[in-house]
Amino acid sequence: MAENSYETEHPVKAFGWAARDTSGALSPFKFSRRETGEKDVQFKVLYCGVCHSDLHQIKNEWGNATYPLVPGHEIVGVVTEVGSKVEKFKVGDKVGVGCLVGSCSKCDNCTGDLENYCPGAVPTYNANGIVTFGGYSDIMVADEHFVLRWPENLPMEAAPLLCAGITTYSPLRYFGLDKPGMHIGVVGLGGLGHMAVKFAKAFGAKVTVISTSASKKVEAIEHLGADSFLISRDQEQMQAAMNTLDGIIDTVSAVHPIMPLLFLLKTNGKLVIVGGPEKPLELPVFPLLMGRKLVAGSGIGGIKETQEMLDFSAKHNIAPDVEIIPVDYINTAMERLVKADVKYRFVLDIGNTLNSA
Ligand code: NAP
Ligand code: ZN
Repeated sequence: MAENSYETEHPVKAFGWAARDTSGALSPFKFSRRETGEKDVQFKVLYCGVCHSDLHQIKNEWGNATYPLVPGHEIVGVVTEVGSKVEKFKVGDKVGVGCLVGSCSKCDNCTGDLENYCPGAVPTYNANGIVTFGGYSDIMVADEHFVLRWPENLPMEAAPLLCAGITTYSPLRYFGLDKPGMHIGVVGLGGLGHMAVKFAKAFGAKVTVISTSASKKVEAIEHLGADSFLISRDQEQMQAAMNTLDGIIDTVSAVHPIMPLLFLLKTNGKLVIVGGPEKPLELPVFPLLMGRKLVAGSGIGGIKETQEMLDFSAKHNIAPDVEIIPVDYINTAMERLVKADVKYRFVLDIGNTLNSA
């Protein structure tokens, strides 16, 4: 489709930054949003987090990119218009949209508050078969079912809760890794990893970070509240920590060995993978058999649980550590994200720095 048609297809003018090809370079992009339907909420975007999934997709590392691609699924803003049948929101409300803007609403997943696992789930950007554009843009329109209430005392810059937050909160809860006194490992101290540390601490766990970056150790312990820190490439340290963990949340964005992680688990320990490396990981079987260990995956969370996570975060003063950046810094931010050089999440200041002029 020519760019011109994106600009004129719908009645509401919109502006954002899009990737055009596998270089992933983002540049200004004019498009349009649908009119606010009767169940829709339209909102002005103020902040949008920069997730590593955005980086994977703008570069087509998952093999499903359609261009132009406007990323962004950690979106917070203020409601500007609501449809006639909207019940939960009014103009002026603070709201958020995460990774989903649609699902079939009928299947077992949808009726069980697991829209995130609905085969017909519609991602906020780069959807399959229909065109969706994400939150690196000035305006959003979404069905109210997929719009979250933003708690009053949560800063709006805490937008990364909408993906990094729920993606770590959900498996800690579902896999029973939320019991006080448990010992939880978090692999990869980036956007997701640092939220996993915060939630696990809030649940009363002892937390060990397993990282490739020695430079993150002091801050992880003194600032994030981790109890210990292992360098994953240091075999002595890793061996000394064998059989100590009840569960691990693995957030690593690249291919990495999981055998050393399985050895860290106690009998019945659970390794939950949430990172999305572009190639498969190797699964060593014997370390699994020896100790009845479980390897699982988890993808974001349902809408109800996402709201629960936001309310929990507000109640316990949990927010991501963010580096607020202007929109025209995004390509540099992506280069830094490749190098794991951010503490711990970039957030675009859309409200003040997205200029369409
Ligand atoms: P991020 O901020 O870049 O953090 C990833 C961390 O992984 C890095 O900070 C680094 O931590 C570690 N790492 C990077 N390369 C590594 C390598 N080659 N070997 C070992 N460790 C490495 O990314 P993020 O936004 O947290 O996302 C992490 C992954 O989760 C991405 O693949 C993303 O697509 C995926 N994701 C999945 C879901 C889901 O629903 N399951 C949702 C959102 C994101 P250290 O410096 O501490 O080693
Ligand atoms: Zn994400």
